[in-house]
Amino acid sequence: MPTLDYRQLYIGGQWRDPAQSETIDVQSPTTEEIIGSVPRGGRGDIDAAVAAARVAFDDPDGWATWHPKQRADVLEKFAAELEARGAETAARVSMQNGMPIWLAQQFEAGFPPLLLRYYSDLMNSAPVEEERQGMLGGVSLVSRQPVGVVGAIVPWNVPQGISFLKLAPALAAGCTVVLKPAEETVLDAFLMAEAAAAAGLPPGVLNVVPGGRDIGAYLVEHPDIDKVSFTGSTAAGRAIAETCGRLLRPVTLELGGKSAAIVLDDADIAGSIESFFGATLLNNGQICWLNTRVLAPRSRYTEIVDTITGLASALTIGDPLDPETKIGPLVSSRQRERVEGYIAKGKQEGRLTTGGSRPSGQDRGWFVEPTVFADVDNNAVISREEIFGPVLSVIPYADESEAIAIANDSNYGLGGSVWSSDTERAAGVARKVRSGTVGVNHYVNEPVAPFGGIKESGMGRELGPEGLDAFQVYKTIYLPPAQ
Ligand code: NAD
Repeated sequence: MPTLDYRQLYIGGQWRDPAQSETIDVQSPTTEEIIGSVPRGGRGDIDAAVAAARVAFDDPDGWATWHPKQRADVLEKFAAELEARGAETAARVSMQNGMPIWLAQQFEAGFPPLLLRYYSDLMNSAPVEEERQGMLGGVSLVSRQPVGVVGAIVPWNVPQGISFLKLAPALAAGCTVVLKPAEETVLDAFLMAEAAAAAGLPPGVLNVVPGGRDIGAYLVEHPDIDKVSFTGSTAAGRAIAETCGRLLRPVTLELGGKSAAIVLDDADIAGSIESFFGATLLNNGQICWLNTRVLAPRSRYTEIVDTITGLASALTIGDPLDPETKIGPLVSSRQRERVEGYIAKGKQEGRLTTGGSRPSGQDRGWFVEPTVFADVDNNAVISREEIFGPVLSVIPYADESEAIAIANDSNYGLGGSVWSSDTERAAGVARKVRSGTVGVNHYVNEPVAPFGGIKESGMGRELGPEGLDAFQVYKTIYLPPAQ
């Protein structure tokens, strides 16, 4: 197959030669072959991208000052250009990170245009300026201003979906952006840059510089950045928060998780197996909000362990481009080594009921079998640390209050779910779970509702009107009392 090779970077509305000659070579996690390359962004490229974004933002007649409707018109074109490239975007993501193609079509092709339209509509429906009659005489004019030049740093696991959790509200609000994709998923980011150029985004409004953590860190502390929006590991988030704290720079952090699925004693897991799969093992176990701790009542423990074991062992493992595939490879050999390290630990800490090895017959690619450990204590390493692979721990509990206590006994608080045939009962339990989001009998990132974490899962929210807030600052103009 021919490789996809780019030689220039999208900066300031143009394709420009990179500051350095190094490249990022993308290796397929399925075939282990090189499938493409892009220039590796260097500090000079970050400088050029931030300067272009700064000029675009500071232009007194530019993007930031346009009426939301004008920006919405351009963002609608951007959405249409993305849709025209949707199938190719999904395929590129799937080829780079192993995401099953049916999921890539939803998350990577479908979600970005939807988010652009949602945030454009939200901006259009809010008054540009609100007039408040004062208590001390006079009138205050209150408006929301775009926060400025945004440095957006994203991981490889859902590269387009996560990029647009940031880009859609930031661009709709009037911000300009420098996006730094992860090294593993760059080919989709370049296709998105092509869509931005074709849509006629004004120069500098969106700039894309791929690279590793070094240029990520350089972007975070760049003097001309006004706001950082980061999704990735808790360790990197902590380092970024330290920098932003020192610089008094606003930052949104979407980090790791170790969420719990609480299976109540009246749940019909077998009857909702597709939803349960979606909440626990989606994207080969590589999603931050996955419910990788399954809390099962002792009264139905054996049956629930058997159901989950049956689910995991029946999943079709294979080429992510095959629509029948439920579990593709992990993103890299490094990631597989990490996951296998946790599986080895799990064999000491719990009872392996299925999986635990590389699938037979897959001699190429970074595959691991979906793996379930039963009889795991909530203090075990595999219950406390994020594995980021298809590995579940089943933890027994005696009653509802113990289930809630176990769910809340975590350094993380990002997702979660409650499973029951009584929706109200489940919602009652969900209210007591300390986490940013909890699903009842399913889990979904709903565009209109805020998504984000507490504790080591991060700070701030994406999605919903709250996700727009993150890219706006309030401004007040006091008018004098009438003479
Ligand atoms: P990572 O933190 O290593 O990398 C994420 C991105 O940050 C990459 O672009 C990387 O180059 C960059 N980066 C790394 N260190 C940096 C630093 N010090 N300064 C600036 N940039 C830096 O994470 P990963 O292993 O690629 O991704 C998996 C992690 O992301 C998991 O922990 C997962 O839970 C988390 N994640 C969270 C969410 C969420 O919404 N909460 C969503 C997806 C993934």
